[in-house]
Amino acid sequence: MLWSLAKAALLGPHQAMLGEFDYIIVGAGAAGCVLANRLTENGRHRVLLMEAGGSDRRFFIHMPMGYGKTFYDPSINWMYKAEADAGLAGQEDFWPRGKVVGGSSSINAMVYVRGDASDFDDWRSAGNVGWGWDDVLPAFKAMEHNEAGTNEWRGHGGPLFISANNTQRHWTGKAFLEASIAAGLSHNRDLNGATQEGVGHFQLTVQNGRRNSASRAFLRPALKRKNLAVLLNAHATQVVFDDRRAVGVEYLQDGVLKRAHAKAEVIVATGAINTPQLLQLSGIGDGAHLQSLGIKTLHENRHVGRNLKDHQGINYTYRLNVPTLNQVLRPWWGKLRVGLQYLLFQSGPLSISMNQAGGFFRTNPARTRPNMQLYYQAFSTLIPRANERPILSPDPFPGMSIGLSNCRPTSVGEIIANSPNPLVHPRIIANAFSTDHDMQEMLEAVKFIRKIAAQKPLANLIEEELRPGPAVQDDTDLVADIRQRSGTVYHPCCTARMGPDAKHGVVDAQFRVHGIDGLRVIDASAFPSIVSGNLNAASMMIGWRGAEMVLKGN
Ligand SMILES: Cc1cc2nc3c(=O)[nH]c(=O)nc-3n(C[C@H](O)[C@H](O)[C@H](O)COP(=O)(O)OP(=O)(O)OC[C@H]3O[C@@H](n4cnc5c(N)ncnc54)[C@H](O)[C@@H]3O)c2cc1C
Repeated sequence: MLWSLAKAALLGPHQAMLGEFDYIIVGAGAAGCVLANRLTENGRHRVLLMEAGGSDRRFFIHMPMGYGKTFYDPSINWMYKAEADAGLAGQEDFWPRGKVVGGSSSINAMVYVRGDASDFDDWRSAGNVGWGWDDVLPAFKAMEHNEAGTNEWRGHGGPLFISANNTQRHWTGKAFLEASIAAGLSHNRDLNGATQEGVGHFQLTVQNGRRNSASRAFLRPALKRKNLAVLLNAHATQVVFDDRRAVGVEYLQDGVLKRAHAKAEVIVATGAINTPQLLQLSGIGDGAHLQSLGIKTLHENRHVGRNLKDHQGINYTYRLNVPTLNQVLRPWWGKLRVGLQYLLFQSGPLSISMNQAGGFFRTNPARTRPNMQLYYQAFSTLIPRANERPILSPDPFPGMSIGLSNCRPTSVGEIIANSPNPLVHPRIIANAFSTDHDMQEMLEAVKFIRKIAAQKPLANLIEEELRPGPAVQDDTDLVADIRQRSGTVYHPCCTARMGPDAKHGVVDAQFRVHGIDGLRVIDASAFPSIVSGNLNAASMMIGWRGAEMVLKGN
């Protein structure tokens, strides 16, 4: 009710029209930036890219280790909180999302993993024609310029530079890799290659010591095109319809409610949390829920906001007997040294991701594909700091962490608009570890972390396990620790998932919203199911393929 009154006041004499565009892309995130580039490439279409956040020209976005700062910066981050979750011992998990040009690709940890080939075959098996591994591999290759060169798996010559992560790494990462191999894993030189299984160095979206966000790789080169307009600090409040055809977007900018008109299509790319909220506010969703908010149902689809998938992760943290990045990043003289090194040469520990090594493994040999991802971090952050993820001020003692996250959890959550007011955050119900499957595989996985830590040469460097600590041994205590200390690894998806019809999903295999004309959803919310590993690559890939579908008009 309050929102409808406020809306009338905001509309009043101020309502303004921006002019006409062929396409409006809502959300300048990982997928949105790729779409903006490709839809303007041939010069034939006028495109408006609308973003709720502002410019990404900020030092801590571009310096890779600035990740610790952007993580809690409300000026570029939606700073969501999930609801208290029984699966996480009642905790309200923090869910950062980028609210800035580049979206979450501007604040993410820069690990570049496409996903397991079988994940995409699962997409196709779910009835989504054209989405198997054979279909998506050419798109991954076309958009990439892999520093390691080209082969059957890697792309070369595309707009997205991928670092092979061969320099600047901390030496203890090698001990982690050797210990993992001693624990039974294979060495994998290309985690985006023939197989995902094994351990190695992550490829990174970093170029010349700077974050290579979707904004930098795709949007910036397109900005000079006259047929692209970018609107910043413009919060889309709803899609505007003429009958059942999307014809524009209503948005709030500087406290004024305005409208932009799309002659051809509106493309929603606002990410896995905001996209279902925007659809619900626009009258697309579960009718009973919409009615409870006083929103008129334009199109009933119970999948909107449902099917939320996400990866859950946990860190095991160790005190070492040799210096780690803690001794470099914590003292003021260390900060001065690496700060100067970064400013003068764009090199050193500030110039790469905190996740330098890792890989994928099966918690149980009976499984046909890896079900866990590993991360090695040559620092530890047990001592919290207000408003900061304390990567740039880690613990005072030498420490490191081995992290892991699940690949294809079976728990399902939900995103529900909480109010008709678009500025009110939606409810995030994660339902983490709500299936026995998810807890059982995590239990097997944390035991395997200890197996790695017990192998030489890593074991020789470890003084003690700090978290969870040696007192936590039996399954009951390990499970309690998992619930207490796990959390999202920031990969929500599937909340407007692709499915062959409205009974199975929100969009079809060309991202068109079932039952509505002129409206597509192209972002991580459209994933039919979660992929194994980090989601940025797959989000950009669907932006890449989505643009082709839009241009073909199918
Ligand atoms: C802290 C963190 C670490 C991560 N680490 C990694 C990693 O190392 N590797 C990896 O591959 N992935 C990582 N990810 C995940 C990855 O970045 C995301 O999955 C990916 O960016 C999702 O792309 P998207 O296009 O769906 O959404 P986003 O990139 O989030 O883009 C959505 C955009 O829409 C805008 N928007 C939202 N609502 C509105 C509105 N109403 N009006 C206008 N604009 C709006 C947002 O501000 C944002 O710019 C991480 C994510 C986070 C948050």
